[in-house]
Amino acid sequence: MAKGSGRQRPGTRLVTAGRRAEWTGAAVNPPVWRTSTHLYEDSADLAAGRPNADGHFYYGRRGTPTQWALAEALTEIEPGAAGTVLYPSGVAAIAGALLTVLKPGDVLLVTDNAYEPTRTLANGLLKRMGIETRYFDPLDIEGYAALFCERTAAVMLESPGSLTMEVCDIPALARTAREKGAVSVIDNTWASALGFPALERGCDISVMSLTKHVGGHSDLMMGSASAGEAWHSRLRPTAQSLGNVVSPDDASLALRGLRTMGVRLAQSTASALEIARWLETRPEVARVLCPMLPGAAGNDLWARDFTGGCGLFSVILAGGGPDGRAAFIDALELFGIGYSWGGYESLVVPADPKRTASEFPPSDLPDGAGAAIRFSIGLEDPRDLIADIEQAFAAMEKQ
Ligand SMILES: *Cc1c(COP(=O)(O)O)cnc(C)c1O
Repeated sequence: MAKGSGRQRPGTRLVTAGRRAEWTGAAVNPPVWRTSTHLYEDSADLAAGRPNADGHFYYGRRGTPTQWALAEALTEIEPGAAGTVLYPSGVAAIAGALLTVLKPGDVLLVTDNAYEPTRTLANGLLKRMGIETRYFDPLDIEGYAALFCERTAAVMLESPGSLTMEVCDIPALARTAREKGAVSVIDNTWASALGFPALERGCDISVMSLTKHVGGHSDLMMGSASAGEAWHSRLRPTAQSLGNVVSPDDASLALRGLRTMGVRLAQSTASALEIARWLETRPEVARVLCPMLPGAAGNDLWARDFTGGCGLFSVILAGGGPDGRAAFIDALELFGIGYSWGGYESLVVPADPKRTASEFPPSDLPDGAGAAIRFSIGLEDPRDLIADIEQAFAAMEKQ
């Protein structure tokens, strides 16, 4: 860890983290170590081996200074973390964490608003391994507590839900898990450690899709899991058994993205708030699902627990249904149509306000609500984005 980093504020840590002189040499950034093979000096050097820990080059699959610098930087921005494991995608990170904490016969509790591939993993691979998943309504703390049984080994949390944006009481959910002897894993992609210090709020393992805010430029896929010593020491061998490794080129790009993540998030959060406020005044919109908005659902918990936001929120259209929504989306000029988010460019995707796959769909949807849309606000001037949305609303009304 960089000297005195414990005293530095997050903005400073984003700049200093992971830049050990032994990894960077005289350069500002660690070079891209594109290699599989460590050449040993002689037979004695080979026989001496290398400890299985970051910082001891042994073979490419265990990482090189490029990947170690990224992992260390992520550890330094996650208060309470002793280490970070990198994965080839966010989904691989979720799978790596759950495979670390679960074994056949266990029960896993999963928040009902979880990222869809998390459900797919639980209902498919984990089920085949003899792990039973029970879903819970993230806003019903008593119902959640009642689901625990002797076999409940872990809970999978996420806040806000990545399409419908409910914020839940993570400190309370994590505390209950701990009291019942279960491990809590959180998908912390929306806020990142900058906006939600998950381990400090009581979670055991904090997972992020680095594809989103950390990469920040829509040019790489990666994931991470950060934890205290007890869980990091188990995440690591599981990831190694699964053969997980990330490319040094991608690690270098992710590290580059991380340096500007704070200013990018601050800007996209401010723009998203401006656009969400404007959308609230529009007749085409039944509801804005954005917990950062004062007075919106979940804003009390968001203001209590979060230290920052991001550019991702949804709206429920007042009418028009899927056809009106398609006309609106197709008329947008500055927003790409595509999955993912957290890049410098704005995106939209249709969303399902009822979360049809779920057992606990939101019960308080506005009457006659049309379809929903998820916005990922990028770094364009928010006034141009508002003008674009306004002309797309006009095209929708004409249709
Ligand atoms: C995108 C995303 C993931 C998965 O990340 P990939 O890097 O695309 O595998 C996980 N959780 C959330 C909330 C996401 O939005």
